[in-house]
Amino acid sequence: MTVPARYETARTEDDFVRNLAAVRDRIAAAARRVDRDVAEVRLLPVSKTVPEDRLRLAVSAGMTRLGENKVQEAARKAENLADLGVEWAVIGHLQTNKAKDVAAFASEFQALDSVRIAEALDRRLQDAGRGLDVFVQVNTSDEQSKYGLAPADVPAFVKELPAFSSLRVKGLMTLAEFTPDADRVRACFRRLRTLRDHLREDAPDGLSFDELSMGMSGDYELAITEGATVVRVGQAIFGSRPTTDAHYWPR
Ligand SMILES: *Cc1c(COP(=O)(O)O)cnc(C)c1O
Repeated sequence: MTVPARYETARTEDDFVRNLAAVRDRIAAAARRVDRDVAEVRLLPVSKTVPEDRLRLAVSAGMTRLGENKVQEAARKAENLADLGVEWAVIGHLQTNKAKDVAAFASEFQALDSVRIAEALDRRLQDAGRGLDVFVQVNTSDEQSKYGLAPADVPAFVKELPAFSSLRVKGLMTLAEFTPDADRVRACFRRLRTLRDHLREDAPDGLSFDELSMGMSGDYELAITEGATVVRVGQAIFGSRPTTDAHYWPR
């Protein structure tokens, strides 16, 4: 991720409409620069720390699926906004004792990084008669502080996944290195894409690995030029967060 900018807080439905349109324009421009079809890129708005009253306006502005890093916050919002029919993507590290909650309300989980979590999710999902889209989180920056599997461990890990039939494996997710050096950020995105391309050649039966979830407010355009199919954008849509990122991934 590059240096964080300051983003105005979106407070009205019009603010959300405008911010969404601006981000979508930049997504389209980035796709055009590398001759990609913009329809291949999904924007996942990330709503962590944004309270329910503002999320109602965001949903009115057209958001249908929201990303949240922390399970408890996501579960609370899912309950309080149940009347809106929004779908929820959990994009942060999960402990096994929270798998039950994710299995109960989430449509998507982007931070799968252990067989224990896969097992715990699958058991709860089977009980509930639900399925879940999942992304395997990869640590592409070699930073000790980042969650996710080392790239070298991913091929063996994904071979375990067909055993968990309620998990629909979609692809890979990463957070790039936190640096203003665009070349180093780009290197993280390339590492994820190369890994995905290798997995495609050698994927276990039934797993497709089409998706690359990479890019946040500071680096989503770069991620798109490197092949992202999902960008997770929070602050550029909702406004700068009061909490520091150290709250979400240890440094
Ligand atoms: C918060 C978060 C994002 C979005 O970051 P912004 O800087 O708000 O765009 C993306 N991915 C994960 C895992 C996050 O927790």
